[in-house]
Amino acid sequence: LDLRAEDLKTLGELGAGNGGTVCRVMHIPTETVMARKIIHIDAKPTVRKQIMRELQFAHDCNSEHIVSFYGAFTTEGDINICMEYMDVGSLDKIYKKNGPIPMDILPQIAYAVVDGLIYLYDNHRIIHRDVKPSNVLINSSGQIKICDFGVSGQLINSIADTFVGTSSYMSPERIQGAPYTVKSDVWSLGITIMELALGRFPFPADGTALSIFELLQHIVHEAVPTLPPGKYPEDLEDFLARCLMKDVDKRATPSELKSHPYLQNAMSHKVDLQGWAASVNSI
Ligand code: ATP
Ligand code: MG
Repeated sequence: LDLRAEDLKTLGELGAGNGGTVCRVMHIPTETVMARKIIHIDAKPTVRKQIMRELQFAHDCNSEHIVSFYGAFTTEGDINICMEYMDVGSLDKIYKKNGPIPMDILPQIAYAVVDGLIYLYDNHRIIHRDVKPSNVLINSSGQIKICDFGVSGQLINSIADTFVGTSSYMSPERIQGAPYTVKSDVWSLGITIMELALGRFPFPADGTALSIFELLQHIVHEAVPTLPPGKYPEDLEDFLARCLMKDVDKRATPSELKSHPYLQNAMSHKVDLQGWAASVNSI
């Protein structure tokens, strides 16, 4: 099925990020509600065609922890990506409205992200590159899925050429110019889970405001953040320590994290994710 702009009716705006705007839309012919992301990039037609070709690989990414891809098209210089609409929204909005994520829900989220990362890398050799609370989405069935992963190398390059590509979830080695590996995603996951546990971004420990430059300096040179002692489960503290190793060789891989007690214990307990999703103030 080919998606065309003419077949989409905008229902509302979901948010805007660094270079993209996301709207809730109705695909009229199939009566399917979708999320449409519009990315404006300055790129030549040949580059744009390559992006469109590469984006098609997202059709092959099918996992219960990955947001489904419906299709992509171009409109006057914009790249349009249509994906599954997640009706409870992203974790950044959820914790900002509802406070820290409950301790029984958090390992379920960590498990979903780890499993999604393993799926992308083992089956498609895709490194996510942008793990953070706004890229983890929840729906009212209680499903947890990751979105905005790096399927198209050319899209990543074009966005980097058009916007400043620094993110506060970047690993110390990335900030210092080392190439991306799956372990960079593991660092970002650690920061993300700590943020969801604390209900605030973990850097710097005392919560003072820093410029982006100061923040990146801090991530590279200062001690790794930790949870306030004695207030959180020990297996969570250990899980985060495994993610937030500055030394890449010592940092866990996604597969190692999957067998960590924090996730293994969580898997043996049934949790009412649907009930939690219904209780959350969303969007
Ligand atoms: P950045 O651009 O830095 O990655 P971001 O992830 O917040 O930041 P976008 O990816 O443009 O920016 O998304 C904007 C907002 O739209 C998100 O914060 C999220 O709440 C919402 N959103 C994105 N995709 C979906 C989706 N598939 N379903 C529901 N809401 C979505
Ligand atoms: Mg996003």
